[in-house]
Amino acid sequence: MIYLDYQATTPTAPEVTGAIMRWIGEQFANPHSPSRWGREAGAAIEIARKQVEKALGLKGGRLAFTGSATEAINWALKGIVEKLRDDGSKRNRVITIATEHAAVLDTCEWLAGHGAEVTVLPVQRDGLLDLDLLADKLDDRTALVAAMLVNNEIGVMQPVAEIAAMAHDAGALMFCDAVQAFGRMDIPRGPDLVAISAHKIHGPKGIGALWTRRGAEPAPLIHGGGQELGLRSGTLSPALCVGFGAAAKLAAERANRDYDHVRKLWGAASQALGLGWIVNGSTVHRYCGNLNIRREGLDGARLIADLRDVAFSLGSACASGSGRPSHVLKAIGLDYREARSSIRLGFGRYTTQKELVDACQRIAAAAYAQETLDA
Ligand code: PLP
Repeated sequence: MIYLDYQATTPTAPEVTGAIMRWIGEQFANPHSPSRWGREAGAAIEIARKQVEKALGLKGGRLAFTGSATEAINWALKGIVEKLRDDGSKRNRVITIATEHAAVLDTCEWLAGHGAEVTVLPVQRDGLLDLDLLADKLDDRTALVAAMLVNNEIGVMQPVAEIAAMAHDAGALMFCDAVQAFGRMDIPRGPDLVAISAHKIHGPKGIGALWTRRGAEPAPLIHGGGQELGLRSGTLSPALCVGFGAAAKLAAERANRDYDHVRKLWGAASQALGLGWIVNGSTVHRYCGNLNIRREGLDGARLIADLRDVAFSLGSACASGSGRPSHVLKAIGLDYREARSSIRLGFGRYTTQKELVDACQRIAAAAYAQETLDA
C-alpha cells in the first residue's frame, strides 16, 4: 500500500507510539487526582501542553486540549458568539469563507439557526479570498472572522495575518483553523483563537486543542469539572496528550527537513504524472504536500477503485463518504464534471520519492487507460 492521503490523516510517528505506551499501560491514574500517580500523569500532560505551545509559537495565550479539532472549532465559534451575547454586545455576526472545513461551515449554519448573522464569503478561482470583499462586510456588528490557513482539500493558503489585522481594525476577533498548517509551517501572528489536531501531525486521533489569546476565551461548550483551564470539562487522556506533545516536538525539530522533503516530492510527483493534469487552486499560495489535480474526462472515483493499493482521495474524507461533490471545488468555480475528474494526492514526512513516483506513474497510466477505454 502506498499511502497518499496525508490530509485525511498522517501515519503515527514511531516516537509518538513509544511515548504513548506507558500511559495506556501501567500508568493509568486520573491526571486530575491528587494522588502521587495522578500528579505524575498531570505533570506529563503539562509537559505535553508546553511542547504543543512551543511548536505553535504563538505568544500571549493559553492552550486547552480538546477531543478533536472539530470540538475546538465548535467551542471557538459558538463560545465567542455566546460570550458576546451574554456581555450585552451588539456584535452577533460571524464572517467566514466558502472553502472552510465542514466543522466551521456547519457550526456557522447552526449559529445562523440560533440567532446569529452569518456571512459566507466566496473565493476567487485560485481559492483565495478577495480581501476587498471582506473589507465591505466588516462592521461594528461583526463578532468574529473565521478563516483557515491551509485548505484541507486544495492546499491553498489564505492570508491569515491580513485577515486578522482587518478583523481587529473593525473591533472583531479572528479565529483560524490551522489544522492542516500546524507542524508544517509557521502560524502567522494575528489570530485570537487557533484550532489544531494531533492526527494531522503524526500524533494520535481523538485529541485536538484550542489556543486562545488572553481575554479572548470563549464561553464553555462542554460543562462539568472544568478540568481544562476551568473552561473545558472532561478527564484528559494522558496517553493522547503525551502523544500530541511528542508529535509537536518532533514536528518542530524536523520543520525544515520536512518542508524541503515535501517540496522535492511535489516536483517529483508533478513530473511523474506527466502532461494533461491541471492543479486545482493557486500554485503559488499553497502547501506543497497537497496535490489536488484534475484531468479532462477522468472519473476520479473509478480511478481510486482501479488502484486499490494506492491510498488517495477525491477531496475531504467527509465529502468522499457522502458522495456529494466537494463544496471547495464548487467554490473555486469547477462544474460537476471538473469536480468529478479531480483527485487529491497528499504526501509528507514518511513518503519516499520512489513510492510517490511509482504511484503517480500508475495513476497516469490508469487515467490514460480510462481515456482509451471510454473513447
Ligand atoms: N479542519 C481541517 C482543515 C481539517 O482538515 C480537519 C480534519 O479533517 C478538521 C478541521 C477536523 O479535525 P479533527 O479530525 O481533529 O476533528
